[in-house]
Amino acid sequence: MAKTEFKSESKRLLDLMINSIYTHKEIFLREIISNASDAIDKLYYISLTDSNVGLNKADFKIRIDLDKQNRTITITDNGIGMDSDDLDQNLGTIANSGSLKFKQENEKNDDVDIIGQFGVGFYSAFMVADEITVQSKKYNCDKAYQWQSSGADGYEITEIDKTNVGTKIIIKVKEDTENEKYSEFLEKYKISALVSKYSDYIRYPIIMEMEHRKLRDDCDMDNPEYDEVKEDEVLNSMIPIWQRNKKDVTDEEYNEFYKQKFFDFENPARVFANSVEGVVTSFKSLLFIPSRVPFNYYTKEYKKGLQLYSSGVLIMDNCSDLIPEHFAFVKGVVDSQDLSLNISREMLQHDRQLKSMAATLEKKIKNELASWLKNDREGYEKFYGNFGRHIKYGLVGDYGAHKDIVKDLVLFYSSTEKKLVTLKEYLERMKDDQKEIYFATGESVDAIDKLPQIEYFRDKGKEILYCSEEIDEFAFQSMADYNGTPFKNIVNEDVDDEDADKKEDKDQNNDDTLKFVKEVLGDKVKEVIFSKKLKSHPVCLTAKGSVSFEMEKYMAVAQPDAMVKAERVLEINAAHPAVNALIANITADKDKAEKYAKLLYNQAVIIAGLQVDDPSEYADLVCSLMK
Ligand code: ADP
Repeated sequence: MAKTEFKSESKRLLDLMINSIYTHKEIFLREIISNASDAIDKLYYISLTDSNVGLNKADFKIRIDLDKQNRTITITDNGIGMDSDDLDQNLGTIANSGSLKFKQENEKNDDVDIIGQFGVGFYSAFMVADEITVQSKKYNCDKAYQWQSSGADGYEITEIDKTNVGTKIIIKVKEDTENEKYSEFLEKYKISALVSKYSDYIRYPIIMEMEHRKLRDDCDMDNPEYDEVKEDEVLNSMIPIWQRNKKDVTDEEYNEFYKQKFFDFENPARVFANSVEGVVTSFKSLLFIPSRVPFNYYTKEYKKGLQLYSSGVLIMDNCSDLIPEHFAFVKGVVDSQDLSLNISREMLQHDRQLKSMAATLEKKIKNELASWLKNDREGYEKFYGNFGRHIKYGLVGDYGAHKDIVKDLVLFYSSTEKKLVTLKEYLERMKDDQKEIYFATGESVDAIDKLPQIEYFRDKGKEILYCSEEIDEFAFQSMADYNGTPFKNIVNEDVDDEDADKKEDKDQNNDDTLKFVKEVLGDKVKEVIFSKKLKSHPVCLTAKGSVSFEMEKYMAVAQPDAMVKAERVLEINAAHPAVNALIANITADKDKAEKYAKLLYNQAVIIAGLQVDDPSEYADLVCSLMK
């Protein structure tokens, strides 16, 4: 029989597909195995009503044979098979998918669950093959046929002898080139690894003959002897763990699955499985939270994402669109029967389905974390220590679009409870006369605790959230309020008048004092004011406006060119003896008063955790006053 041209007009199309659609050549095996599995699904479906098939579910299998000498990989299935028309139609026309037709015809039948809806998967084998031979006998057909092609120049169909129903695909592997070691696909370990990676959950056994050493029967155990034996082995585990009923799976099994799949040597801290019946897409998910931070987590190398399966066939190793940034630490798998994928299976066309799955997953993760927080505080805090920072980013990212999802999952250190608390807990404890949620920012919990400006609030027994992470302040700004109660950074803002203890202005020269200090300091400060909140400290530095000192420090590292500076306000405590000494000297010894003003300013700078402008000048100042 003469060679037939491919029906698709352009041979270049095939070329293009072979060379550009798939990024990894190794996925050809997944495609061929998926086709075999689809073909078995079809015959199995018929066998449910037609006893002539003569096969039970347990009889269906896929077999892989390797022949290094002849450089062939042979994949054999006992599925429905193809007659000469099928071979011509299905393998002769690029992008014609027989599977899709079958699915459409049987749309309403839930038993039919076909993964191939596309039409070029088969051709991916040309990425590694010089020649492909397909020998097939269709169920209920007397004759068997062979389809053979060495790529873009066409194919030949001939009649052959074959007694068993099913299909045999013989892939003649290309010779190695400098860049591509095709020969590795002739190695058993490689094929076995690829099956585990991509086709582990194909529901029919994938069998290959494996060699191993076996202890010889009745040999002397002190001097053990082994035989090299060849035995058929099932390469795939067949039932996806996420398809099994939760109560039938042990923790041990989940842990093992997690460790193997995600290359961790520690058990996960949390495992949760969900089955979602969605309007757009139904799916099953099995998610994990690692018990430690992956070594590359805070680097660019870390790729967030979930493994995406379509009816047990791996489509994407790392589908990043399924996981929002603030839950990037979640690992796991998602499996859906409803996914329509475009021709390559690596590129998801139906973005709408992905989006709907991602939204559902975000909620599921949130609920899981919320119940963890509620029922196992200790465990949650440990987790929070690992990944809490990332969750906080959710308050800020995407212009705060996710803040309602994460606001009840974040924790802050409480000045009164001396431990991490939630915003909800803070609000529940808050007295009626308090109108705002107080927080204070600084280098560390210890440093904040010593800030002069929080003394007033602390002494009054007010609860303050101590925030020592860069992100905290941005987070509060992004939230603006928590369930209607606004936040107040007490490091920067003064106490409200009704809160303040009435402080008599003892000195009539108040204004003169402030003017004097401002003149001495010049542009170093925006303003000098008498403070209502200072108690045992003489001075403090606060930031006016939207940029705080913590932000200034953060920006100095993140965007040094931007020169973002906080507006500095020097607050002074009129009731403090040191300030009184300054005031007294303004008239008595102006030179000394100037030195006092500078000294107090520099002290305020140091306490605020900022750099003294000129350390040696400051040292000279101190010495000159000691004289
Ligand atoms: P897809 O699997 O996406 O439909 P393929 O190019 O991989 O596209 O396969 C084209 C068609 O060839 C399949 O839809 C199926 O009808 C047929 N086919 C491929 N492999 C087999 C097989 N092992 N047994 C029966 N039919 C097959």
